[in-house]
Amino acid sequence: MSTQAFERSRLRTARELAGLSQTQLARESGLTPAAISQFESGATRPSPDTSGVLAAVLGVPPGFFHEPMAESHEGFFRSLRRTSVSDRRRARAIAHVAHDLAVHASSADRFSAGDVPRLGVSGLQAERVEIEKTAARVRTMWGLPSGPIPDVVGLLETHGIAVIRLPLGNTDVDAFSLPFPDHPVIVLGTDKNDRARSRFDSAHELAHLVLHGEQIWGVREVETQAHQFAAAFLMPAEDIHDQLPTTVDWPTLFALKRQWQVSLAALLMRARTLGRMSESTYLTAIKAASARGWRRVEPVPLGGPEQPTRLLAYLASADSAPARVVLPSRVVESLQIAAAA
Ligand SMILES: [Zn+2]
Repeated sequence: MSTQAFERSRLRTARELAGLSQTQLARESGLTPAAISQFESGATRPSPDTSGVLAAVLGVPPGFFHEPMAESHEGFFRSLRRTSVSDRRRARAIAHVAHDLAVHASSADRFSAGDVPRLGVSGLQAERVEIEKTAARVRTMWGLPSGPIPDVVGLLETHGIAVIRLPLGNTDVDAFSLPFPDHPVIVLGTDKNDRARSRFDSAHELAHLVLHGEQIWGVREVETQAHQFAAAFLMPAEDIHDQLPTTVDWPTLFALKRQWQVSLAALLMRARTLGRMSESTYLTAIKAASARGWRRVEPVPLGGPEQPTRLLAYLASADSAPARVVLPSRVVESLQIAAAA
């Protein structure tokens, strides 16, 4: 157990996990809103008794407030404006707990050290070619052979990224990431039961960690770059170029979907990007897919999405006892439930 002093930013995290405002927390714990505000700002510290009351009200172990706290920015949320502030804060707070879990698991030798290359590109103007080269560099640095990646989530875990699944529900967020320097966190939604989409989401978030690090631009170019990286990471040009059809050849596209574990939509886009398909052929394919309802549910289902396993295996082991003393059991359980869903 850590003997660290009261860590003020953990109070905010615990409050956001519980979905309470400062005023609501004050009411439930018999304190004034000003006191809560001062604890969170660091102006004053709660007494041990008060700290115990806050922990009980917020449903976290008392030790939770005394663990070191890693800072990170607000996270790479897609569709920022359409995500409610409280949903976003709660999801972000859970991601912080997942980071705690990774730190504990790593110190128990149950999780890899972080190994995510930070390869900045030349800003928002970076050309696709530069993004593609960066994706290829990450594959090389991680020692990946050419061809499809069998398990993207497993790969990320192997490189020390804490991947968790949460129901992101109606938040309009498919996935997001927090670029902690030691163990970055990627949060994937449980809502879309689609392996291909989920693999692309994972690669998209990896792109933010590699390309954008602590910088958050919150603009469309950043999302475009993350998509370009994801496509190149999952479907390297030199491996897939000659396999992609030049006509709307569905049997070939179906076979490529099975082989590469990516969506038909991603394959068509890749064929256009790499110049295998003309713009008009691409549009013909998209129209045909729409007419058959394939834009909503694609044919050739690939099975359930990839699941993170490493942190859950740690939680299931006896080694996790010290972490369980300080981690909110409600969050730990929700991670296990989401993974089993
Ligand atoms: Zn993004």
